[in-house]
Amino acid sequence: MYDIIIIGAGPAGISAGIYAVSRGRKTLIIEKDQVGGMIGKVSTVTHYAGIIDGETGETFAERLKNQAQQAGVEFAYEKVERTELGGKIKEIITDKNHYRAAKVILANGTTPRKLGIPGEAELYGKGIGMNAARDAEMYRGKNVYVVGGADGAVKEALFLAKYAAHVNIIHFEETLGCIAEFREKIAKTGNIKLILHSRLHAVYGADRVESLEIADERTGAIETIADPGCGIFVYAGAVPNTELYQELKLEQGFIVTDENMETEIPGVYAAGDIRKKNVRQVSTAVAEGTLAAIHAAV
Ligand SMILES: Cc1cc2nc3c(=O)[nH]c(=O)nc-3n(C[C@H](O)[C@H](O)[C@H](O)COP(=O)(O)OP(=O)(O)OC[C@H]3O[C@@H](n4cnc5c(N)ncnc54)[C@H](O)[C@@H]3O)c2cc1C
Repeated sequence: MYDIIIIGAGPAGISAGIYAVSRGRKTLIIEKDQVGGMIGKVSTVTHYAGIIDGETGETFAERLKNQAQQAGVEFAYEKVERTELGGKIKEIITDKNHYRAAKVILANGTTPRKLGIPGEAELYGKGIGMNAARDAEMYRGKNVYVVGGADGAVKEALFLAKYAAHVNIIHFEETLGCIAEFREKIAKTGNIKLILHSRLHAVYGADRVESLEIADERTGAIETIADPGCGIFVYAGAVPNTELYQELKLEQGFIVTDENMETEIPGVYAAGDIRKKNVRQVSTAVAEGTLAAIHAAV
């Protein structure tokens, strides 16, 4: 029996763990993959106060993990498959164990959205992916296509441009949706081309991408581009990992909380990208993890 169980070891979950332990609570974080969550897989971490120069997702995740371990947070590397949150004792069932806790903090974030286009599933990991930090080297001197125009997509495109011959950003809107800082950097980077008001329509190939189709949103015209061995990186938004929480009030799939991060079920808190909110950054995830843990520990 734990005082507090936290699901997810991204920035929100780690922050919650550090604060919960500091208040003398027996705390467990359950993580199905690696400490760090989404930010652990990005090329560079930007804008979070206190990051080191050249901070990568990997170095940031490592420091999150070290800090939590040194604080005395216990980890279980298991996948949560079912939860029963309505009772006084919260039941958390993973692929390996059955845990009980007085309070839970749901910090298991989001999953990158798939495009659902022909060829995407078949070529996933064979040219289509989402981990620029890990895969950029494989595309040195080759062409790369980045799908998405928000901050994360454009930041990864800037990183990929250091390796690839040409980077093409495919974005469905008329202009990029990223911050001014990234837009200025794009303008100064010679090998990035914008393919606006367009969507990736289909991808073809067997063991690698051979060609892709791009549909123009304005005209409906579909252009086929032969580009054998190119890389396609998809940053097309994310869907909340809330399928486990049918007992909770969800809005557009996200968890609704009060300002203390508590849901409508007493003792059940949520923090980070999984919450219904407008700004999804490391800083907001960390702040919400802090609030959730401090209130859960009372
Ligand atoms: C490309 C990109 C670049 C970004 N760059 C920045 C940046 O530079 N600066 C910034 O501030 N923000 C950035 N962000 C946003 C930032 O990554 C997120 O806001 C932040 O990671 C949210 O943290 P979180 O803890 O809420 O969730 P997540 O980071 O998503 O962590 C959730 C964790 O829960 C785990 N999990 C999920 N389901 C289960 C389950 N069933 N059982 C157990 N564990 C589970 C996952 O494995 C994961 O580790 C970027 C986002 C993207 C997509």
